[in-house]
Amino acid sequence: MPDQIPEKISSMAALEAKAKVESYQYPPKPLAGLDADIRVTYTGVCATDIHMIDNDWGLSRYPLVPGHEVVGHVIAVGSDVSDLRVGDVVGLGAQAQACGECENCQAGIDNLCPHRKFTYFENTVDETGVHVHHGGFSTHLRTDSRYLFKIPEGYEEKYVGPLMCGGLTVAAPLYEYAGESWNLKDRRIGIVGIGGLGHMAIQFAAKMGAETFAVSRGTGKRSFCEALGATGFIDSSSPADMDAHAGKLHYLLFCISGGIIDINHYVGLMRPYGTLHFVGVPEKVDNFSLMPLMFNRLTLSSSPIGSSSQMRAMLKFAAKYDVRPIIEEFTHKTANEAIQKIRDGTIRFRAVLKNDLL
Ligand SMILES: [Zn+2]
Ligand SMILES: [Zn+2]
Repeated sequence: MPDQIPEKISSMAALEAKAKVESYQYPPKPLAGLDADIRVTYTGVCATDIHMIDNDWGLSRYPLVPGHEVVGHVIAVGSDVSDLRVGDVVGLGAQAQACGECENCQAGIDNLCPHRKFTYFENTVDETGVHVHHGGFSTHLRTDSRYLFKIPEGYEEKYVGPLMCGGLTVAAPLYEYAGESWNLKDRRIGIVGIGGLGHMAIQFAAKMGAETFAVSRGTGKRSFCEALGATGFIDSSSPADMDAHAGKLHYLLFCISGGIIDINHYVGLMRPYGTLHFVGVPEKVDNFSLMPLMFNRLTLSSSPIGSSSQMRAMLKFAAKYDVRPIIEEFTHKTANEAIQKIRDGTIRFRAVLKNDLL
């Protein structure tokens, strides 16, 4: 059988909010000049997929095919595609399009384009406004080639998915902080939350040369964090340990999704001019108080994913320095098991689905 996009794409979809995903078929949109077709090999499952399945943010439309950490092989390209070829291994992240023309796009911050389209959040991503853009819980995708990123040769495909959303999300602010050099030498970076995002953030920060501190409740994850490259460990549940590290950090990256973060609890760790930066989505950030920030000249900030150029830089860096997510493998057909483990908080550390729908 020729490797071409089928008339009906097979997928796993949630048909209503909070439902389990089940088999679902949909036709691809017509191939536009800048589109490419990919055969999906792997898809990561991100906490955001669960929020979208559950319609936690009121953005979801059903049937909803999740998956925005997609890896695949290019099997066809539109007539205007010049930089991708059939056979290329590519990744698609949370963003599927931007306008390319606005001030933000022109400035290279296309992840902040007011007309950006996320991979399946808005559902209609094509120019007709009719066809639905679905996620990577599918056998194939037809999508804007400009948001398909070539994967460096030699980087194992099954590890790519978690880089496409989670990896980019943690690496982009660290790159911005490090500057063009990607060098965090002589910087002390703290990573709060050692889960799906945090375990990648430790690797990126450490491999960029930072003195990297894992910040976690209890000491159970200490040796694990050291193995990832952390040079220090701060037990956030220990007042003595927090005191011992007071005024130490230049930058603190919050990688916690869900739960309540008491921001004031962490401010004492910061050096003057330090930055507390959020990338995970906690349920709530609590106990915000201006004075401790002001009197230490601290910055509080946050960021969503990263730009296209940061994506390319991140993939190159991950391949060169072997930043690799720790994954648990499932398949598209067993996606519900992966979803349940993420709901239960028992996943180590990112779930990846291998496409077995073909
Ligand atoms: Zn995500
Ligand atoms: Zn734009």
